[in-house]
Amino acid sequence: MLIGVPAETAAGETRVSVTPETAKKLVAQGHAVVVQSGAGLAASVTDAAYEAAGAQITDAAGAFAAEVVLKVRAPSDAEASLLKPGAVVVGMLNPFDAAGLQRLATAGATAFALEAAPRTTRAQSMDVLSSQANIAGYKAVMIAADTYQRFFPMLMTAAGTVKAARVVVLGVGVAGLQAIATAKRLGAVIEASDVRPSVKEQVESLGGKFIEVSYDTDEEKEAAVGVGGYAKPMPASWLARQQAEVAKRVAQADVVISTALIPGRAAPTLVTEAMVKSMKPGSVIVDIAAGKGPDGVGGNCPLTETDRTVVKHGVTLVGETNLPAQVAADASALYARNVLDFLKLILPKEGGLKIDLEDDIVAACRMTQDGQVTRK
Ligand code: NAD
Repeated sequence: MLIGVPAETAAGETRVSVTPETAKKLVAQGHAVVVQSGAGLAASVTDAAYEAAGAQITDAAGAFAAEVVLKVRAPSDAEASLLKPGAVVVGMLNPFDAAGLQRLATAGATAFALEAAPRTTRAQSMDVLSSQANIAGYKAVMIAADTYQRFFPMLMTAAGTVKAARVVVLGVGVAGLQAIATAKRLGAVIEASDVRPSVKEQVESLGGKFIEVSYDTDEEKEAAVGVGGYAKPMPASWLARQQAEVAKRVAQADVVISTALIPGRAAPTLVTEAMVKSMKPGSVIVDIAAGKGPDGVGGNCPLTETDRTVVKHGVTLVGETNLPAQVAADASALYARNVLDFLKLILPKEGGLKIDLEDDIVAACRMTQDGQVTRK
């Protein structure tokens, strides 16, 4: 198969879908890999490194004219028009972006959105949400530590004692767990909240304290279990109790890292304007949920501004929507391995293309085929 790797053109996107490591493996499997000149530069990968791995350097038209096009983000209109009918496109194509999927269907592409893979053990090695959320959790704490004008660890010095920073993590999925682990390494004191009580043990194993909220009705207990590992919207009664508990912690916090998401819905509001007002001057909120709603807006705090850092009521709010792009080299390395693993499902060793809809991962990720949007 001819595999194309275009340069990403979305604003602020620094990642690339194939690294020299994965290009070498694809070439060893008998594929030809063409990479758009400069595609890896923002992730510290030179054209020469791709050539050394056995890939050929081409232009945008050459990369999009391949039989299999590997992307980070969904192609734009102009890019989709460069695709050959029947081309396979693999990337983080945003399953909730109806217009983007229609564009790929109209181009005649067979498109796979890796974010739609089930959260199962077999899909773990191609789980782009996890590989990138892990990086977002880490980078959020790095930004918070950089922005916050005090130390994270407790320090006992000749000039006096400095208290450890208090960090509150809201939403303990992949990003939240990494945020806890990273803040802990820096010496912070951490408290965390999630709707799913099953994460309490994980929070504690990382040295954090779980913010307990009781589940008083059958409806609350049933919602807390979630679906497929993801959270479900919680009843208002539970959210009110959670908000009261979280408000007490946020008022004491130096840093809040919020990550709470519910697939296909707007991010829940967990930090209200009143809570921001209650925080000490100089506190920092990094809203990882910023821009993660299905329509690319929203966040866990209504004061968050997407892709901006603003100071409101004396609190710095960071609304970066693409934190993994700020760790471009490792984000690309992990993403490229996810993509490589997914390709094993559709490019069998014996050659050709195989779209086996009996395979739950292939079926869940397939978004378009034969001119139609086929998203489940
Ligand atoms: P996510 O990004 O969808 O959401 C982040 C977190 O926010 C979740 O933990 C969610 O429960 C929480 N949340 C939602 N509403 C909230 C609210 N009102 N208050 C507080 N927290 C709220 O989650 P994710 O990181 O994609 O992880 C989702 C699940 O998938 C987790 O259980 C994770 O362990 C699991 N997972 C499984 C696998 C696997 O088995 N292969 C791989 C990765 C993740």
